[in-house]
Amino acid sequence: MFDLESIVRKNIQVLKPYSSARTEFKGKATVFLDANESPFEHELSLNRYPDPLQWKLKRKLSKIKGVKPEQIFLGNGSDEAIDLIIRIFCEPGEDAVQIFPPTYGMYQVSADINHVMTIKTNLTADFELPESIAWPKVSFICSPNNPTGRLISRDRIMELTNQAGGIIVVDEAYIDFCQEKTILTWLDEMPNLIVLQTFSKAWGLAGARLGVAYASQEIIELMNKVKPPYNVNELTIQKGLEALSKVDQVKERIAYLIKQRTFLSEELAHISIIKKVYPSDANFILIQVDDAKGLYQKLLDQGIVVRDRSGMINLENCLRITVGTKEENKRLLKAIKNIE
Ligand SMILES: *Cc1c(COP(=O)(O)O)cnc(C)c1O
Repeated sequence: MFDLESIVRKNIQVLKPYSSARTEFKGKATVFLDANESPFEHELSLNRYPDPLQWKLKRKLSKIKGVKPEQIFLGNGSDEAIDLIIRIFCEPGEDAVQIFPPTYGMYQVSADINHVMTIKTNLTADFELPESIAWPKVSFICSPNNPTGRLISRDRIMELTNQAGGIIVVDEAYIDFCQEKTILTWLDEMPNLIVLQTFSKAWGLAGARLGVAYASQEIIELMNKVKPPYNVNELTIQKGLEALSKVDQVKERIAYLIKQRTFLSEELAHISIIKKVYPSDANFILIQVDDAKGLYQKLLDQGIVVRDRSGMINLENCLRITVGTKEENKRLLKAIKNIE
């Protein structure tokens, strides 16, 4: 059975977090002489430290996602959340995390940086979770998965999460591009589930660095305790708020990209040097060709950069192509047909 306290590192359990001026002050004031800031007003309030817990942004996100503000962590990209999760639970040189390759590279890099071992349990040939898995303190499941583009069966994720004595992280960076709904609704019944989402893809804010983790209030409190006090800057908070007030535009753009994904997949399938076009639940398409390195270079010669994923397990000669605008996709197709 899952017992949060028993899997948190001891030093984190006893950690007394840094208390910032903005955290300690509660009440109403008009003169702020507590944080050694510059008193000269800046048009974007940048002379002041930002809210360390970003409550305004969390409240707005909370309404859209149907999750309590206290169950939301905001970070400097989801990559910050991945690092924090590993640091909270995994003892360096002792514990391990589990990943399911081929998958997103940051889980392993983050584990390596923290001197935490990585157990690699490969996905099956059709990119599903295998029968036999390990049960470490933390497992990362990416669904829809990068770079395969496929959703992982929800039933299997549910089964696994219910059985696990450790944390199951489900990375939903691409959830907006697929038919299946988010599993955020499971949080109430699954104390060991952490769901990651991001403003970097469908929300169009990769440059602002804003990632989200949803989990039990207890897990979020641990993440807040360990994070740098002002991990999300004021500009990013403002841009995040702005994005959340344009939900309709985001939905339109998602619909546009899904349409382009269908168009691009169909066109790619007709090109003879492309052996396989994998179905996609994300904003990118995985293809298998005869010579991935060659095609990659020839596309680059025409000014088009895609991602060579052929070094990864079960992805021999595979390229990952992000779905772009209609014009960009047409340029890509023209370039590949030239090469053909
Ligand atoms: C792009 C991506 C992210 C987003 O990372 P950020 O740090 O939020 O930009 C997270 N997970 C996966 C699988 C991704 O592909």
